Amino acid sequence: MSALRIYNSESKRKERFRTKAKRVGLYVCGITPYDVTHVGHAFTYTSFDVLVRYLGYLGYGVTYVQNLTDIDDDIIRKSKELKKQWRRLGEENAQKFLEDMRWLNNEQPNVYPRATDHIEGMIRIVRKLLKRGVAYERKGSVYFSVSADKGYGRLSKLSKKRMLLIANERGNDPNDPNKKDPLDFVLWQAKKPGEPSWPSPWGEGRPGWHIECSTMSTAYLGHTVDIHGGGSDLIFPHHESEIVQSEAATGKRFVRYWMHTGMLRYKGAKMSKSLGNLVLIGDLKKTYSANAVRIYLLSHHYRSVFEFYEKGLRKAKRREELFKKVWRTQSKTGKSLDVVEYEKKWARAMDDDLNTPKALETMERLAGCILKEKTKNVSGAKAFLNIAFGIMGLTIEYR
Ligand SMILES: [Zn+2]
Repeated sequence: MSALRIYNSESKRKERFRTKAKRVGLYVCGITPYDVTHVGHAFTYTSFDVLVRYLGYLGYGVTYVQNLTDIDDDIIRKSKELKKQWRRLGEENAQKFLEDMRWLNNEQPNVYPRATDHIEGMIRIVRKLLKRGVAYERKGSVYFSVSADKGYGRLSKLSKKRMLLIANERGNDPNDPNKKDPLDFVLWQAKKPGEPSWPSPWGEGRPGWHIECSTMSTAYLGHTVDIHGGGSDLIFPHHESEIVQSEAATGKRFVRYWMHTGMLRYKGAKMSKSLGNLVLIGDLKKTYSANAVRIYLLSHHYRSVFEFYEKGLRKAKRREELFKKVWRTQSKTGKSLDVVEYEKKWARAMDDDLNTPKALETMERLAGCILKEKTKNVSGAKAFLNIAFGIMGLTIEYR
């Protein structure tokens, strides 16, 4: 068993990471490709990329599933605004996102499912929920009845009043006359004029957003997912709703460890499309290397909320240059430089809920030490750094 501890957003504490098998199922909510991706997305997916690499280093096999929410309210709204076919809009933005992720050296997830390829599975779960009496159908739409599950609010720890407030800010319609409770969320939405739709037992319509992720995660990872992740803005209502509907359908615990990344801020507010304060990967590409961007992002803990500053990127660039300098040093023939303490420190940082800022600091100190070394053999130290670079996803290789 490894010493890895992960902060579980559900228990709100760091927990020892335990699995029954050496294979870990990881599901990370992917993008809704209605617009360009920004550095906030890059922070989330780079953080999970490091998690996958580190789990591999610890000897776990990882099945990493990241979905593409290729149909939802935002895509439909944007496609109307731009007068562009919704599928084409999604396809173009998804391709750009994947290009950005490749540039950042984020490894491809093992499975990259699209919501529209899983409509049948979604319908199956909705039927189950109806049968179990936790959902109801009205005029071709199906809703999850939140009062049927006392556990609603278990992840976000929000009061019903707060939940309703936030849900309304995020697209919930509390005045929908078909609903029994304003907080009930939609599992299947009856077709509205001009919207894409699929046939279902309740007539033409489309799935609700939450059911998409419940379906895709369990389709590839089974009823219980080891780690489910995403940005912390997804905790409520998205992940909260995923829990109740999945557990009501399967009768099994849905997720063992919930991991959420912090939100980036820029110019004093959360970086978001609606506020327009975005820094795009495309802009950073013009001035910085992918290594520098990764070093910058990973010098913040994945759960931290931080303000984006360009001076941080310049610092990251200097760190990258230092790492490259080490690469060019020639090894001496004397006694080996002792790296045990550095290795331990680095592993302790990574095991402590993936403390990448501390791990990078240790790597920087070791790099400085190698450069100052006049007589000792540094090849062991360089070999360790090489492994650490790989886990951070940095492409600074030794010959
Ligand atoms: Zn999701």
